[in-house]
Amino acid sequence: MFRDYTYCRHYAVRNGIRWKCSRQSSKNCSAFLLISDNGDILKKNEVHSHEPFQYYCNSDGSYMRI
Ligand SMILES: [Zn+2]
Repeated sequence: MFRDYTYCRHYAVRNGIRWKCSRQSSKNCSAFLLISDNGDILKKNEVHSHEPFQYYCNSDGSYMRI
């Protein structure tokens, strides 16, 4: 999860992993993150075509989507 949006691992690139918005297919959203092997954000597009998910934090520390 990154800034209230969820991302799915899309594919590996030469120096990292490209993550796509988890709603890319359902909402035709083109947002993505390109994260290097050591955790740096190399490239990103945070323009989403939809609102972020709302999360509810349970008392046991887990998250629930509402
Ligand atoms: Zn999105």
